[in-house]
Amino acid sequence: MPKLTCEVSASLLDALDRAAAESGESRDHIVSRALADALQVDHGTLFQVSTSGAIVEGLFGGVVSVGTLREHGDFGLGTFAGLDGEMIALDGAYFQMRSDGSIHRATDAMQVPFALVTHFAGADAGTLAPFASMDALLALLDARRDSDNIFYAVRLSGRFSLVHDRVACKAGDHETLVEATSHQAEFRHADVEGTMVGFYTPPYARGIGIPGWHLHFISADFSRGGHVLGCAGAGIGLQMERLDDFRLAMPETAAFLKADLSGDTEAALDTAERATR
Ligand SMILES: [Zn+2]
Repeated sequence: MPKLTCEVSASLLDALDRAAAESGESRDHIVSRALADALQVDHGTLFQVSTSGAIVEGLFGGVVSVGTLREHGDFGLGTFAGLDGEMIALDGAYFQMRSDGSIHRATDAMQVPFALVTHFAGADAGTLAPFASMDALLALLDARRDSDNIFYAVRLSGRFSLVHDRVACKAGDHETLVEATSHQAEFRHADVEGTMVGFYTPPYARGIGIPGWHLHFISADFSRGGHVLGCAGAGIGLQMERLDDFRLAMPETAAFLKADLSGDTEAALDTAERATR
């Protein structure tokens, strides 16, 4: 994250240190929150575009622009109109990762059918124990949660011994999510430095979100990345933020207004979003 250096009075610094000692929060976190309050930037708020149910049904038309998403967050993940690749936002930079392996900066005009973004103010949460699989990583992240029932954002950084990711391939007309991701591109990156952006969605939000953890990866040189299916690593740094405010932007498209979204999405999301194949 960017660094801010500034001069404050000795008494203000004392008060900050007392607050940090009493709450156990870092100075960074307290200052970020105070600035967000003063500047009226939403914090602890997850902004989601469309629903997992709509995506399962193949509603891949653009709902908001990247320019609009920027107003709601500097950190996040999603996809692009037509399911044309994976989206990752990190420190305010939005990227499109495409199935041919290329990665481009997303322009403000690009349209997004599904995304999760936040103004990330994660507190430093130390270094994760070594993990040899996706399941092991998710168990480590689960152990850091203090509730099943709010959302969380995580940022993982370091050198991963393995990242197995997929990049969705532009969907054909009338394809559902399961059909469209059956021809996704998959990549395996060994010994790669980079960052994962992730969110935890509570089980009760099934139908609106994708329950559990959802992680996207981008390498430090912005040359590789995708939706994470598997990984291994040691010495990976964790930042984590509780998100206890949730905003949902529902599409106003005719396709969304008329879609039958009453079905159970669990099996489809398991197939499309996790390494079950
Ligand atoms: Zn994803």
